[in-house]
Amino acid sequence: MTVYLKNATFIDWETLEFKEGHMAVCTIQGNRPEFISKVPDPKDLDSQDTIVDCHNKLVTKSFVCGHHHIYSTLARGMPAPVKNPENFVEVLKYVWWNLDKNLDLEMIRASALAAALYCAKNGVTFVIDHHASPFAVRGSLNLIKESFDAVGISHLLCYEISDRDGETSRDEGLQETETYLQDNKQGLVGLHASFTVSEETLGKAVKLAKEYNSGIHIHVAEDRADQTDCERKYNKRVIQRLADAGALDLPKTILGHCIHLNDQEAELLKNSPAWVVENVESNLNNNVGLADYGRYGNNIMLGTDGMHNDMLRSAKSAFIVGQTTEGIDFIGAYQRFRAAHRYLSDNGFQGDDNNNLVILEYDSPTEITKNNFLGHFLFGLESAHITDVISNGKLIVKNKSLQTLPEEETLSFAREMGKRLWEKL
Ligand SMILES: [Zn+2]
Repeated sequence: MTVYLKNATFIDWETLEFKEGHMAVCTIQGNRPEFISKVPDPKDLDSQDTIVDCHNKLVTKSFVCGHHHIYSTLARGMPAPVKNPENFVEVLKYVWWNLDKNLDLEMIRASALAAALYCAKNGVTFVIDHHASPFAVRGSLNLIKESFDAVGISHLLCYEISDRDGETSRDEGLQETETYLQDNKQGLVGLHASFTVSEETLGKAVKLAKEYNSGIHIHVAEDRADQTDCERKYNKRVIQRLADAGALDLPKTILGHCIHLNDQEAELLKNSPAWVVENVESNLNNNVGLADYGRYGNNIMLGTDGMHNDMLRSAKSAFIVGQTTEGIDFIGAYQRFRAAHRYLSDNGFQGDDNNNLVILEYDSPTEITKNNFLGHFLFGLESAHITDVISNGKLIVKNKSLQTLPEEETLSFAREMGKRLWEKL
């Protein structure tokens, strides 16, 4: 199957070189999009082939979300919690843990399909998700996998193992993770956060990650309460606790947030192969503080923390906030936005090859070139400019319309499941 891009302006995401011409993109993994001298006549095309007219459009590599929670998709507009949360732990208790405990498998399917649909339309062709549904654990990862596959979004999934809902739920989380990894599906071993994970659970999770050559995906010091709890129970700080358990030795490990780390922890992180994922909009929304990510070395990527599905928005926020917190510059923000590609390729994960592209109709009032691309990236380019998206060589969004599933049906299913969920809250 080949997608021909006619009259494309291609921007190399690594060098920012601009190149104009016709391109051929195919579904074979490892094949770079090729520049060709002539686009075939439509009548000579194979039935699976397509031509996209890219006149006046920009083509570049599509995007990765480094930390998502598809389980929160049906939260938009939901009823207010029974108590107005006064701190972060109460936000979890009254909002998110109430929501995730009420999810059933059909609601999870609806959440995953809708999230994948929005990701596709926003040019996000790879999602790293962190899932929780304590009373619908078994089969949840496979369901999310099937939903993402149906839309055409590549993924790296995990289930959020925790002791917060008792031993049975914890064991189901471990079992769900192992079943998923056993089937040779790429995945991680998810943990909620240090303050809801016992020593026994942490040990079992790291053992599982090592056994399946995987990594840990956990929230770290998102709020100060995580550190206070760790110091009280274990007489050490969270990063030290994870290091002692062996979680930081794994290059696939992802640590979400890392807001409240001291210098010693920053140093430990810097010298480890583990990755940190930054989600500043979520941090501002939860009023938990902000971090200087520059202290943690180069393995920093961006996510949405389930707030939305728009990585161009996350990049802009990281830039705006990062100027105050760490003096980040244009290229620093862009590199952080693109760092997830390195996380995926260095760790041998499938689904983020060069045949993942986004096509934008960018009506700029000023010239765009290699030299000023970053200014356009941070102040001009938005997801609303995206017209077409190619995932693993397949055209999944064409003229702003999802090609793999009927949009209206997918969203009306989500609304139906959302209503059912809200009634249970
Ligand atoms: Zn999160």
